Amino acid sequence: MLDLTALRSHFPMLSATAHGEPLVYFDNGATSQKPVCVIDTEALFYRECNANVHRGVHYFSAEATRRYEQSREVLADFLAVESREIVWTKGATEALNLLAHGLTHTLCKGDIILISELEHHANIVPWQLAAARTGAELKAILVNSQGILELDTALALIARYKPKVLALCHASNGLGNIHDISTLIAAAKRHGAICVVDGAQALLHLQPKPKALGCDFYVASAHKALGPTGVGFLYGRYELLNALPPYQGGGEMIETVTIAASTYREAPGKFEAGTPNIAGVIAFAEALKFIQAQNAEALRTHEQALYRYLVTHLTQIDGITLYGDLSQNIGTVSFNFRDEHPFDIATLLDHQGIAVRTGHHCNQPLMQALNISGTIRVSLAFYNTFAEVDCFINALNAALALLA
Ligand code: PLP
Repeated sequence: MLDLTALRSHFPMLSATAHGEPLVYFDNGATSQKPVCVIDTEALFYRECNANVHRGVHYFSAEATRRYEQSREVLADFLAVESREIVWTKGATEALNLLAHGLTHTLCKGDIILISELEHHANIVPWQLAAARTGAELKAILVNSQGILELDTALALIARYKPKVLALCHASNGLGNIHDISTLIAAAKRHGAICVVDGAQALLHLQPKPKALGCDFYVASAHKALGPTGVGFLYGRYELLNALPPYQGGGEMIETVTIAASTYREAPGKFEAGTPNIAGVIAFAEALKFIQAQNAEALRTHEQALYRYLVTHLTQIDGITLYGDLSQNIGTVSFNFRDEHPFDIATLLDHQGIAVRTGHHCNQPLMQALNISGTIRVSLAFYNTFAEVDCFINALNAALALLA
């Protein structure tokens, strides 16, 4: 059993008010709230240990470097990978750009990069840029009429295209669907594909183990998993990661520099040019330790019970259309009410203290496939409560009554 009151007490924002109402924070897919240990660690770094990493012999530079590198170990432990397989980035977006740039040298005219219609723009646009640079072709696995990536369709397309790169989200940000990523990777691997997983939405809910999934690369952002903004990572299988060329040049990533040419450090160093978000990385490690200190099973059970409770209530409201796979889901519900604009409903909810997301959720191809302009997205986290779902349903009914 989860002690939700104790758990919630770690998150100051959960006691906030919005428009004079107690905040019901149901926008966790956009960013999660942060526990005190994360907030304090970031502030404490600047207060007690501020110095640059990898640069000085002095006491605090060494201490900052030790904490920064130790954080890499914490993430490696969380993902069950080696620390040299982790590159710190400023988020999932930068990690995907790094990768799409780095794989340019392996792509040729006629190669297929296979994604899906469910991808976040961060897992579409970098591949479009890579395709434009190399002559490779970008193809997408289409979703069905509910926005679900059907396994048979995906496997058939993998067999047909034999992609050079397969890049799929572990869980969809717009709909919350969880994908059978290891089956898809195994199929693509039979054709020698490089397999990339966008885990931005999965990190907090599924606590992924990239090696068990069989992927070559896995990316995510800290801020969606209780950590600070401006930090993310690229995990890469070491031989593949180390074979990628540098993404950016500058200080820190080099071995030697002459005016004529430079040599680079081994991975991950060669991908970390310039001064990183040191305090953010160290605070992210605290977020991961916080998650690890909880009972993962209890968090997931609670989140799923909450999700089913929410879906049950929503399906009882006449005129609501729900999208996505409701059986395999990280706890995200996307819906519309008749032909009302999602923005109007979200504004009425906001005035009652309820934070949800509306719009296309950086999922324009998905919205085009569903033939809608956007949805209202409720994205839950383990610290949400049944009382908050009740409050949301009451507020939604009040909003819908105003629109009727
Ligand atoms: N991929 C997915 C599935 C996401 O949900 C997001 C953010 O919403 C991203 C990538 C990009 O993450 P960031 O903006 O933190 O780089």
